[in-house]
Amino acid sequence: MMAFSPEISAPPRRITILGSTGSIGCSTIDIVERQPESFSCAALTAFSNVSLLAEQARKLQPELVVIGDENRFKELKEVLSGSGMEIAAGREALIEAAKRPSDFIMAAIVGAAGLEPTLAAVRRGATVGLANKECLVCAGDLMKAELEKSGSTLLPVDSEHSAIYQVFDFDRRDAVESIILTASGGPFRTHSLEQMAGVTPEQAVAHPNWDMGAKISVDSATMMNKGLEVIEAYHLFGIEGERIRVLVHPQSVIHSCVAYVDGSVLAQMGVPDMRTPIAYSLAWPHRMTAPVERLDLASISELTFEAPDFKRFPMLSLAFQALKSGGSAPTILNAANEVAVTAFLDGKIGFLDIARIVEKALEQVPHKPMTTLAHVNEIDATARDVASGWTADFAPAAGADSGVAVSG
Ligand code: NAD
Ligand code: MG
Repeated sequence: MMAFSPEISAPPRRITILGSTGSIGCSTIDIVERQPESFSCAALTAFSNVSLLAEQARKLQPELVVIGDENRFKELKEVLSGSGMEIAAGREALIEAAKRPSDFIMAAIVGAAGLEPTLAAVRRGATVGLANKECLVCAGDLMKAELEKSGSTLLPVDSEHSAIYQVFDFDRRDAVESIILTASGGPFRTHSLEQMAGVTPEQAVAHPNWDMGAKISVDSATMMNKGLEVIEAYHLFGIEGERIRVLVHPQSVIHSCVAYVDGSVLAQMGVPDMRTPIAYSLAWPHRMTAPVERLDLASISELTFEAPDFKRFPMLSLAFQALKSGGSAPTILNAANEVAVTAFLDGKIGFLDIARIVEKALEQVPHKPMTTLAHVNEIDATARDVASGWTADFAPAAGADSGVAVSG
């Protein structure tokens, strides 16, 4: 039986998982169910995958189970009838799940749809494992203001930010010179722009190192994922864009580094398996055993690095630009990207059109002040509307007849 290190006494933790049926949600459950004496479950949520959600609920016995899609409520209620669990559906219920008392909440909904539930968790002062980077990108200032008010602890789950968190000297911020975010480069790292023009959704979601949800896989292929992570790092660590560097490292063994004024560079390493940063957040401030392959540097023998190519991966420049502009620019960037990625996965636009749509959105969607959630929601909705209109102007993705099925 896996357990917390014997020298550390960690109390049993009551946890909530938002987005339990996704890639991060399933990896979280994989860790938790190996150590039943250390965890109990307050709530689980998913959007539409009733059968997987019900199977997870039977295993973890949460007090509340929520399905985002209200049309699936009846089905979920039937499948879990007699279980004694409370069943609910819809947006408000997702927020209610986040508000339920628990020691730890894994924020693993994909996209800006996760913002309000994550904010609800922050507002109640919870310890939050943040996988959902889009919420910090689209509402970073608002999230930070709420964090300060509530005293909530935000623990990064994104592997790069978990790495930085582990080697960042929070007591000597002045000694930090820069952050180096590593990037695998994705499946098209060596493709020319001409080759990228014809790639299919199937090729884009087949990441060389990580097994992830469809949206983040496409983001990794365009390198928008790294762009979103630059903005995420700015909010998490308070380091401005000029001091955040991106380094392509195809083996994904060094998960990111912090460079100090004396020339030291501290890195965190491990095999590319999200269960390490997930376990780090679940056990924090302790450490727990994680069921991952151990890093064997002798067998890897070679780690390589290269500078990112901003010409072939224009999304990276767009994200740095949005961070520099500030205000509503990152919200527009994120919303337009979500719309364009969905259109690409549905076979409606080509791979390179994703960047075209995001660039156009940054240029044409009116920028506005952003101090409240209502402002964020308004800008997000406008950018989505405008970007959706543009997807019709582009030709269908070459070779993609019907897109890629995405479930959740
Ligand atoms: P996924 O698509 O596999 O899962 C998403 C989850 O969110 C599912 O449970 C789905 O039911 C739920 N969901 C989707 N739309 C929803 C909506 N409108 N309302 C409520 N719930 C909804 O995604 P994933 O790969 O697990 O990624 C989740 C988040 O974690 C993303 O923000 C991603 O960027 C981040 N992240 C993922 C990885 C990874 O390895 N998968 C790594 C780092 C960060
Ligand atoms: Mg990452």
